[in-house]
Amino acid sequence: MDRPAAGESEMQPGFDVDAMLGKLAKWLRILGFDAAYPCVAPSKGRIFVSARKQAPFAIDVVITSAKLAVQFDELWEQTDIRPDPGLLFRRCLHCNLPVQEIRKEKASGKVPHGVFQITETFRQCPGCGKIYWEGSHVERTRGRVDQLTASVR
Ligand SMILES: [Zn+2]
Repeated sequence: MDRPAAGESEMQPGFDVDAMLGKLAKWLRILGFDAAYPCVAPSKGRIFVSARKQAPFAIDVVITSAKLAVQFDELWEQTDIRPDPGLLFRRCLHCNLPVQEIRKEKASGKVPHGVFQITETFRQCPGCGKIYWEGSHVERTRGRVDQLTASVR
């Protein structure tokens, strides 16, 4: 199966995530996917993910579990889309926009002093301005990501 290289996330179809699946949407963004949320109906060319039992339109991915790890198994089973490790932590969790690498000086005064001193790479959301960096929280999150993608790695 052909897979887009890291950084080509826009080549993959995005997800439209139904209103009841906020946690799933958040973790899709952590994985680097374009995950619009909350959505009430599918839009053209995107993958509609829903826990609804019935709807007046086709649901591309049907989620039945309340457990996040099982929800991801359901999602991987019903699509050909696979997570790209190169896209991990590359999307704003609030705005769903790709974050962009910024010069270190631009993060000065906007992140905790101790973080600024030991971190070289910062990224910023072009929407809300939030600054992201890889720290201990990223290491913790990575463990959870490994669980959620275990069935497709
Ligand atoms: Zn943002």
